[in-house]
Amino acid sequence: MYEFAVTPAVTQIRRRGVEVTDVTPASLAAELELEAGDRIIKVNGRAVRDYLDFRFQTGGETELVLNVLKKTGEEWEIEIDRDEGEDFGLAFENIVPRQCANECLFCFCKGNPPDARPALSFRDEDVRLSFLYGNYTTLTSITEQEMRRVIEQRLTPQYVSVHATDLKVRAHLLGVDEQRADISAKMRRMLDAGIEIHAQVVLCPGINDGEILQRTICDLAAEYPRVKSVAIVPLGLTRYNTDERLTHVTPAFCELVIRHITPVQRDLRKRLGTTFAFLGDEIYLRAGHSVPSRRHYGDYPQIEDGIGMVRSFYEDFQKLWRRLEQRPPRYAQQLNGTILTGTLFAPILKDLLTRLNERFGTCFHVVAVKNQYFGSEIEVAGLMTGTDIIAACHAIKGDFVIMPRAALKSDEAIMLDGMKVEDLQQQLGLPLSALNFDELAAMLS
Ligand code: SF4
Repeated sequence: MYEFAVTPAVTQIRRRGVEVTDVTPASLAAELELEAGDRIIKVNGRAVRDYLDFRFQTGGETELVLNVLKKTGEEWEIEIDRDEGEDFGLAFENIVPRQCANECLFCFCKGNPPDARPALSFRDEDVRLSFLYGNYTTLTSITEQEMRRVIEQRLTPQYVSVHATDLKVRAHLLGVDEQRADISAKMRRMLDAGIEIHAQVVLCPGINDGEILQRTICDLAAEYPRVKSVAIVPLGLTRYNTDERLTHVTPAFCELVIRHITPVQRDLRKRLGTTFAFLGDEIYLRAGHSVPSRRHYGDYPQIEDGIGMVRSFYEDFQKLWRRLEQRPPRYAQQLNGTILTGTLFAPILKDLLTRLNERFGTCFHVVAVKNQYFGSEIEVAGLMTGTDIIAACHAIKGDFVIMPRAALKSDEAIMLDGMKVEDLQQQLGLPLSALNFDELAAMLS
């Protein structure tokens, strides 16, 4: 998943305007004879850098002048009168992301095997992707032009990796000097302009935990509700990141963090009406705790960062159960197959599916796939690789295999180690599907 939206950056050179990749038949764009391969250079005289610019500059406008560089090389100027809200019917190329200028101790790029695909080592740091997809940025190298763009185009919320409000600690973690690490003025400028921020702390034992963490939470909570939430996620060390300045996250460490932060959360809930500072699911599971209640997570502000995913899964499972009570699955006996997941979530999934099997006659098996590619400390399903699945194939039972969709590259049926799903399926000798929860639930209709 962390490869999401960065591929174009390593395969394309930045060019003028934004490229049209598709035109909906019978749409306004088709009427204007726009085609895939054309580039929109300007809207009403203003340069277009990407599809966000196009969206921003055309939004709410009914009379427009487009400057288009046709794929034939011709330049067209098109005057348009459109109905309010009328869609163009255009699809555009992905944004070419900007690269970060940090040297974080824990950067995921250092955790990749030496032969990993180049796209896995791309360090994106882009406020546009932060707005569009919730990618975190550190703001250490945001330019004046980017800052103005965030404010002018209201690219809110922004997701900011704060890690620590203590400057020395932040600078140490990011591998930059303190001046660069200091983003307080930048954050204030965004907040004063009405841009909301969700913050993140990658928790590194002995570096930004304990008092430093508590101060970080307090400093950020002082800006609530403009700073909406803080996600505290544990450092994940693969077997390739052997930086001696980093200490492994252990179950005992997770236990300490929970004991330390639970009273802080309680206090925040009393004062702010929200938990505000959320611990990653991984912290609870590795400490052997059950995850907090639904109430704890509110509207799940940081679910994409692994905060509340397990609770949300329980909720979805309960809904599915109630639906099946009313309308039991018609072909339950035929649902005999294996669901693959990471080692952290496997016991929970196993427990839920055993109950489902007993009640409704299905025959789902759960296999916990050990991550040998990145190392056994990486336990989440989203980082599972094809080679890991093959290594676990002796445990697969039944007539089909289901793997988590999150383990695939966002736009292709390919895994982090480069293995294609079709090749994996061939090696397993069974039908293999990559599904999310809703798709899995649909099998039981
Ligand atoms: S900000 Fe840090 S963790 Fe993120 S890509 Fe850059 S170096 Fe890596």
